[in-house]
Amino acid sequence: MRNPDYHDQVQELLVRAHGRWTSILRSLDVDATILSQRNQPCPMCGGTDRFQYTDKFGEGNYHCRNCGPGGGFKLLQAVKGVDFKSAVRQVQEVIGAAIVPPARAPAEPSALRMKKLAKRLWDEAHPVAQGDDVDRYLRGRQLGMDRYPKVLRCHPRLGYYDKDDKGRSRLVAHHPAMLACIQGADGHAISLHRTYLQDGRKLQRPDAKKVLSGGIQGAAVRLFEPGGVLALAEGLETAIAVHLSTGKPVWAGISAGNLERLWLPEQLQEVHIYADNDADGDFDGQAAAFALARRLRKEHRREGGPRRVKVFVPVHDGADWADVWGAQIRRTSPA
Ligand SMILES: [Zn+2]
Repeated sequence: MRNPDYHDQVQELLVRAHGRWTSILRSLDVDATILSQRNQPCPMCGGTDRFQYTDKFGEGNYHCRNCGPGGGFKLLQAVKGVDFKSAVRQVQEVIGAAIVPPARAPAEPSALRMKKLAKRLWDEAHPVAQGDDVDRYLRGRQLGMDRYPKVLRCHPRLGYYDKDDKGRSRLVAHHPAMLACIQGADGHAISLHRTYLQDGRKLQRPDAKKVLSGGIQGAAVRLFEPGGVLALAEGLETAIAVHLSTGKPVWAGISAGNLERLWLPEQLQEVHIYADNDADGDFDGQAAAFALARRLRKEHRREGGPRRVKVFVPVHDGADWADVWGAQIRRTSPA
């Protein structure tokens, strides 16, 4: 029989633990590797990279492609080899002893709040049109198009925030911005990417490009509908350059780390990855591209056998495909 007191206790504990699971699990000696948000073997069912800790909803969330999703208690039980009651006791001890700092009010922006904010900004923006700030910016980079993908929008006046010395966000100015809709595996918008603009160019500020919320977890900006082949690139500008120079449909992965984890439709037969050449730095672009290529080749598909995967890397150190495209245009167009 269920013990109502115990049930209430657990519910209360869940409320108190909300948003604090990562530090709770760390305090209970759960290996930092497990909590690193990288794909890795599942602590419950093994494999090589099927498991990822995301803490997506502040509940110590994880997802395993084999045994499914779960939260902090389930993870703690598996890692420690203990039953539910004992996991509850351990979490109670950590929270009761205040080893874990209390969650600050808006510690992690909640998924729901972010969705609302993303929707509001998206609604304030309009589809990219000839002559607007986004069009001017892209044309300036030789990336103009007669019709722009619907996942890009132009925001006429977007607040630009800075952090003050106490780490609090403060509004500094308003600038026009290019918004890109970042879509999760099911196609729903999960976040926005913003590129702040000024006088037809990228704003000269360190944070001119940013994602509205962290944790985009394999989501992509689906600029064009995939056909038999889909091309992938890291940045939006690079992706557009690849589309203009090859005619291929392209998705943008936004960052090297996310490109590596990109979610792709299972039925996709052929994938062309257009890497950034980061040989002038830490080879992040190449590493991400080849890690993705490797994963896509190995991924077991129910039909169609292994995918055809190609990786293209610009010849010059430090170049991306937008640079290559820009140089090509300058060479071929009359001065
Ligand atoms: Zn598993």
